[in-house]
Amino acid sequence: MDKQTVRGIIDQLLIVQERDCRIARCRQELDDIPSRKQSAESKLADDRAALEKAQATLKARLAAIKNAEVEIETIRQQVAKLREQQFQIKSNEEFKVLNKEIAGLQEKIKLREDNELELMESAEQAQREANNLKTQLGGAETTVRGECRQLDERHKNLEAEMQQLLQERQGLATVVPADWLTHYTRVMENRRDIALVSLEGNACGACHMTLPPHILQEAKWAAEIITCSFCGRLLYFSG
Ligand SMILES: [Zn+2]
Repeated sequence: MDKQTVRGIIDQLLIVQERDCRIARCRQELDDIPSRKQSAESKLADDRAALEKAQATLKARLAAIKNAEVEIETIRQQVAKLREQQFQIKSNEEFKVLNKEIAGLQEKIKLREDNELELMESAEQAQREANNLKTQLGGAETTVRGECRQLDERHKNLEAEMQQLLQERQGLATVVPADWLTHYTRVMENRRDIALVSLEGNACGACHMTLPPHILQEAKWAAEIITCSFCGRLLYFSG
């Protein structure tokens, strides 16, 4: 094979390789999209947990208010019962004893009412916090939905780009002699990044190992397929 023919094949292969690299980048980006969507979604988990916690706090405080109300009502009924008893009592002493008991119960009611007011304030605070977190989560959900929509759109575009690249690649590969293409494909499958590489001085442009003189000479003659003795990639002399 003469130098010009080999040079022509190498130029064709370089174009094939350029498409292969773009195909690989497309594939990589396509593969990454599900995890990018997942990581966008996972940002919502903290906001959701915070909202759930605030809602649980609010629920607990409302339950405590309900409890306080039931207790106050129970004590009021006790007071009412004692007052009824007072009507039937003849002795002044007994009347006074009941009065004292009623005063004690009314003190209890007052304490519970004060406590209920505090509970109501803290429930209002919890309600405000829950509302804020709900708004925050709503905003975050909108952002994440937007991100996911963009990623879906990117996925669609990448698939179209990939389709076109594969088609182009197929067409470009038909002009490369079969033995070269087979060799190139095998190296590409092994190396997964680049299969055809130019010399860099006396070294392989990919693995950077210094090559033996006869390989360098052969690459310069460019009469056949030359491979790097270290990494196995196809070599060409670009000078
Ligand atoms: Zn090498």
